[in-house]
Amino acid sequence: MRDTKLLLPESEIPRQWYNIVADLPTPPRPPLHPATKQPLKPEDLAALFPMALIEQEASAQRWIDIPEEILNVYRLWRPTPLFRAHRLEQALGTPAKIYYKYEGTSPAGSHKPNTAVVQAYYNKREGVRRLATETGAGQWGSALSLACSLFGLECTVYMVKISYEQKPYRRSLMQVWGAEVIASPSNRTQAGRAILEQDPDSPGSLGIAISEAVEDAAGHEDTKYSLGSVLNHVLLHQTVIGLEAKKQLALAGDYPDVVIGCHGGGSNFGGLAFPFIADRIAGRELRAVAVEPAACPTLTRGPAAYDFGDTAQMTPLLYMHTLGHSFMPAGIHAGGLRYHGAAPLVSHLVELGLVEAKAYPQRAVFEAAVQFARTEGLLPAPESAHAVKAAIDEALAAKEEGRERTILFGLSGHGHFDLAAYDAYLAGRLEDFELPEEAIAKALAEVPKV
Ligand SMILES: *Cc1c(COP(=O)(O)O)cnc(C)c1O
Repeated sequence: MRDTKLLLPESEIPRQWYNIVADLPTPPRPPLHPATKQPLKPEDLAALFPMALIEQEASAQRWIDIPEEILNVYRLWRPTPLFRAHRLEQALGTPAKIYYKYEGTSPAGSHKPNTAVVQAYYNKREGVRRLATETGAGQWGSALSLACSLFGLECTVYMVKISYEQKPYRRSLMQVWGAEVIASPSNRTQAGRAILEQDPDSPGSLGIAISEAVEDAAGHEDTKYSLGSVLNHVLLHQTVIGLEAKKQLALAGDYPDVVIGCHGGGSNFGGLAFPFIADRIAGRELRAVAVEPAACPTLTRGPAAYDFGDTAQMTPLLYMHTLGHSFMPAGIHAGGLRYHGAAPLVSHLVELGLVEAKAYPQRAVFEAAVQFARTEGLLPAPESAHAVKAAIDEALAAKEEGRERTILFGLSGHGHFDLAAYDAYLAGRLEDFELPEEAIAKALAEVPKV
């Protein structure tokens, strides 16, 4: 019998996170203070984050213990299943083996609770009463709302206005878990009011919503800020994905030739790929591929530079691939992964040649998602569908070459709240959109000179 699901018992949940910084051939460039442009000191971040997370952000220690309280919460959905995609392989007629690590079994339906619960835990332990955050499509907002309800914190979510209006069910989910959800730009903050003054009908963007949440946290003694991707500590927490996947592949006697993840800010990709890239750094052959939308091609076309994480230029400067901090994705883009920046760690790995980046137009991505749903059953989140598309292309390349190949990809979440995007695809209403060269030039022009 060939197994379809490779499952681990709860006793196999990783007890430590893996920190790739310890194994990098050269260190990434440090974050800078937005005003002085000098390397950030830990106390510069104290208004926004609890000390435990600030320490992890700057840590170069290879293994970091996962507190028992977190392990007990991880037990609600971890270990997540690893699937062998027998039916997709058959449909493609490929000699390749395709495995996917499915994070859609978490209560919020994606990988994001893996870090949300950790952030809520450390904030609670350091006496914080409330967390403020932003959300685009609503996955991060729902993950943090869940985490705050589990650890007894209040939660305020600034939700990009166009999603707030178009995705009422994600908003409902956040409210069920007790969060206050505010359409952004809002008149609660200076940053929001400034945008509304210029454009009362602004649809909002992640960069604007981040400015609002950061301002809210910085202005309230009992409130801190929480970010769902990009930062080192977020990618660190997500490494439980790759650490479990390694054990599960070992159960099947396999090891991947290529590891694939979709890339927005870099957290699910980093979480899955970093434990494997550790082996590559140690000499093992392996490719790691980060996949993004052609409408928001941060890694493939954005320059690597110091840039702000938000529109109002309040965050520290991060050295990362960026499309510029005022980037607004095209309205017709339905596939998520819309953030202007990429994780500094992933950006650095691209520079080092340890990660390949690849971009796809959205119709091909949805086509792959539908083919996946019709063979494997699960409906991928549109974000995850970018990885599905790349995995299918790898499997077809293996077929062409007549060679076996073991492919591992991350199915970072399910698409049950994204059916409006699938409707648009099935009705032929989605158009492909390539970011024009002028937009890249504009990005280059606005990144601060350091
Ligand atoms: C948020 C999200 C992403 C993109 O964020 P990363 O930090 O790049 O992982 C991808 N997939 C799903 C399901 C998400 O919710």
